[in-house]
Amino acid sequence: TACQSADKVQTYHRDLDIGERSRLTLEARLRRAIDQHELELWYQPKVDGRSGRLIGAEGLVRWRDPKEGLIPPGHFIPLAEETGLIVPLTNQVLDLVCADLSLMHAPGLSPVKVSVNISAAQLDDERLPEEIAQRLSSAGLSPLDLELEITERALMARLDSVLGTLSALHRLGISLSLDDFGTGYSSLGYLGRFPIDELKIDQSFVRDLGTGAADEMVVRAIVALARGLGLWVIAEGIETQEQATWLCANGCEWHQGYLYSRPLERDAFLQLLDRRAPP
Ligand code: C2E
Ligand code: CA
Ligand code: CA
Ligand code: CA
Repeated sequence: TACQSADKVQTYHRDLDIGERSRLTLEARLRRAIDQHELELWYQPKVDGRSGRLIGAEGLVRWRDPKEGLIPPGHFIPLAEETGLIVPLTNQVLDLVCADLSLMHAPGLSPVKVSVNISAAQLDDERLPEEIAQRLSSAGLSPLDLELEITERALMARLDSVLGTLSALHRLGISLSLDDFGTGYSSLGYLGRFPIDELKIDQSFVRDLGTGAADEMVVRAIVALARGLGLWVIAEGIETQEQATWLCANGCEWHQGYLYSRPLERDAFLQLLDRRAPP
């Protein structure tokens, strides 16, 4: 079983240093977690900062380990990317988001667009758009229900190789958001060539907004850039009312952050969509 092979890996590599050994163990455990469907998708609301209205959500993966409890993605996504496990992991995330989107379209609920994160390496896979399209259609969903978040860094590292994949996704009608924007050294000349729909301002720029910090200039520039290129813009990591107020006053009304809500378990998020539920 997968359980025994995890032990075998650990024993076989007895001579490796602790770091390497625990890495291998983690890899085997993650492989088993994917097989056993221990991954969950949590949803963090995206909100119109002026009205407080729910406008969407970001799906964020969590690993519910039977022994260790809930493990955040920062602890296993980098390893998944190094080992190739990111492919089955993302497939499972896509299955989860399609299943959950179907639930969101139940009578009595007001569904919103949901985004998921796609790792850099997968953008090289020309089959990705078709696979996503298949999943959506077999779940009876529209491409308009889904958005993909791709980090600016990933895009800039693969300017030429990913253009075909992104264009195919865009033609299908799936929205594309450039995540962690402002941290990836975009060549502005290239940005206009990519079929993206949205810039997502990285939370590192949001932290000091409203205090006269230099980051205010950066955020103003990103908002102007988005407007000039005809893109939507959203800010993430908003924790204070000061940050939210500053962003609204400076043309960025779409917000995501702990000020509004932490990521929620699926069922708690579904309740937010319930038109009959008390606010
Ligand atoms: P990200 O895509 O930049 O996601 C935003 C992260 O910021 C999330 O952490 C979220 O919980 C956190 N966050 C949200 N609001 C606030 C806030 O107001 N303050 C602070 N300090 N943090 C906030 P999380 O869920 O731990 O995810 C970390 C990263 O893991 C994500 O960063 C994303 O790069 C990656 N990730 C998550 N789910 C997936 C997935 O399904 N696939 C892939 N490939 N990567 C994923
Ligand atoms: Ca993201
Ligand atoms: Ca981000
Ligand atoms: Ca980030």
